[in-house]
Amino acid sequence: MDANEFRRLGYQLVDWIADYREGLERLPVMSPAKPGEIRAAFPEHPPLHGGRMAQALAVLDRDVMPGITHWNHPSFFAYFPSNTSYASILGDLATAGIGAQGMSWQTSPAATEVEEVVMDWLRQMVALSPAFTGVIHDTASTATFTALLCAREKVSGHAQDGEGLQSGEAPLVVYASDQGHSSIEKAALLAGFGRRFLRLIPTDENHAIRLDLLSAAIEKDVEIGLRPCALVAAVGTTALDPVAAMADLAEAHGMWLHVDAALAGTAMVLPECRWMWEGIERADSLVFNPHKWMGVGFDLSAYYVRDPQHLIRVMSTHPSYLRTAQDGQVSNFRDWHIQLGRRFRALKLWFYLMDVGVEGLQARLRRDLENAQWLKAQVDGAPDWERLAPVPLQTVCLRHLGPGLDEPALAAHNLELARRVNEGGRAYLTPSLLKGRQMLRVSIGAETTERRHVEALWESLKEIARAL
Ligand code: PLP
Repeated sequence: MDANEFRRLGYQLVDWIADYREGLERLPVMSPAKPGEIRAAFPEHPPLHGGRMAQALAVLDRDVMPGITHWNHPSFFAYFPSNTSYASILGDLATAGIGAQGMSWQTSPAATEVEEVVMDWLRQMVALSPAFTGVIHDTASTATFTALLCAREKVSGHAQDGEGLQSGEAPLVVYASDQGHSSIEKAALLAGFGRRFLRLIPTDENHAIRLDLLSAAIEKDVEIGLRPCALVAAVGTTALDPVAAMADLAEAHGMWLHVDAALAGTAMVLPECRWMWEGIERADSLVFNPHKWMGVGFDLSAYYVRDPQHLIRVMSTHPSYLRTAQDGQVSNFRDWHIQLGRRFRALKLWFYLMDVGVEGLQARLRRDLENAQWLKAQVDGAPDWERLAPVPLQTVCLRHLGPGLDEPALAAHNLELARRVNEGGRAYLTPSLLKGRQMLRVSIGAETTERRHVEALWESLKEIARAL
């Protein structure tokens, strides 16, 4: 392909994306594809001869798109909002076009310095103090894993420089709530703590970690000769832990405090939501995902630490081929995370912020919060529906109480309800268990979701429930 062909196809593809976005509402939200169906449309062997881009675009339309679940659809209420705003798409396009690796400052100084700028803008937007320095990670899972590695090394006095985890006399323990995200468990296991030394503490009626049980678990561990190492607080849509009180415990026991605010971190752009992470200044590290509710395309996680030097010590290696003359004066972001190579992700965040501005983002987030409160009020006012969790943000956990149904029957009833909503194509939500009770999670906040889409979802939930 030469530059002229690229221009022609590129303009065509941009039109295709805009048409797709404009027509989204007419498509079934969840892909109706059956397992293997998409794959079967593709030839078994790679093309021997090239020059088939026109064919590729036709196949994209005909055979790939039926296998897409439309995350930017206004009636997407599943999992979490993962918006890709137009500005962020353009940022990604520029990143791909430039094709730079930003592993060291020297390998593309702008990739490092624009990232420093936008991570500092983001820090200001969520009102974190300048004591925190940010770096872009791919996902919250990676950032939480990194945090636990840093915790392990801090508490073990950099055991990695000697015999690693094998050298400790007292096994290290990680604590989180049993409502925290599965990425915490994964991180603890991958970081080598071992399931025996991961304590998932029960939560109270509002799904916040039980501080009394947490303190008791820590004290018991100390008593039997274990070493409390890391505490992970969840600042989330359903699980909302008391960060300040957890910081007290972390300080008292010399533990690392990491805060997982993957989705909820975006809400901190709103001053009225910042009570949710009161005490955040005392965390050692935190992560949130602009690639969720904010509107920046996947993937872009913001990882903030109070001690970048510690992070660098844990993450860096110094092979001769990576050394540069500027080392010591600049940030080499390869030393701030696990992988070496890194895309210029900051561009899409920068484009996005230039497009919406802080006030534009705040207005959209407030719209979503109001939509969630509207749905909460409908559920609370309907005697045959139940809300299972508080609604501090944009997620509503609900279920239909079919008359005379016991718990197992209620579970089957609500699963069927979810199946009919999702397979009907008009909306998409996530059936999930909350402390053993089957419920439906309605996660509001796609960029194009207006009140009418939430109203339509509520109407179809009621209609389907009546017909069951
Ligand atoms: N933590 C929480 C609270 C989440 O909601 C999620 C994703 O849904 C994650 C972590 C994992 O996010 P990622 O896909 O960025 O690893």
